[in-house]
Amino acid sequence: MRNHRKIISFDLDGTLVSAQYGDMVWNHGIPVEYAKKYSMGFEDARKTVIGEYKTLGDGDLLWYDIGYWLKRFNLDVSPEELLKRYEDYILPAQDAKEVLGRLKERYTLIVASNAARIFVEKELAYTGLAPYFNRIISATSDYGMVKKGEDFYRRLCLEMDAQAGDFIHIGDHPVFDFMAPSSLGIEAYLFKSHDPFFSIYHTEKIDGKTISSLGELEVLL
Ligand SMILES: [Mg+2]
Repeated sequence: MRNHRKIISFDLDGTLVSAQYGDMVWNHGIPVEYAKKYSMGFEDARKTVIGEYKTLGDGDLLWYDIGYWLKRFNLDVSPEELLKRYEDYILPAQDAKEVLGRLKERYTLIVASNAARIFVEKELAYTGLAPYFNRIISATSDYGMVKKGEDFYRRLCLEMDAQAGDFIHIGDHPVFDFMAPSSLGIEAYLFKSHDPFFSIYHTEKIDGKTISSLGELEVLL
């Protein structure tokens, strides 16, 4: 069955939900546990932990796997417990529900995130955004791939039984969310919130292809 409606695919962290949450879990929560476990100061623990993350980098599937890191660091906290501890930091984009509610009338909405499913589900449940989406995809958990290249978007087209021209993608990573889909012919927009803490990427605007709120996207369509 082909989709008759256009599909809008949204990145999650730094686009629909503030990246502060992920930042707190990964760059605060894990270092706090590490400092406790190895009896060291927080700043030293943070440097060590972040240095370890860098040995893999965000092109590696394991980089997204919190269970892997907790085991690698030999920490006694569970992923669920850690995700719960910082849930106050899960903040949706401004006007997310209103705009998504209106877009849902005209488009098929999906989430396409690199974050592991455990994060994706937590963030969408906590913000109440889950019901707005027809499909929720964690590239790393569901496809075993990082959403960085054309391969991911090709797979997404296949799975949605749609062509590149049927898609609009929006996200805050200049390569994962803009260059990769654009190179496949997907209409893509870079999301750059007015709130400097909303995304962890400090990217330059791309002329005519940068939006700073979901409301702006609605106007563009
Ligand atoms: Mg993002």
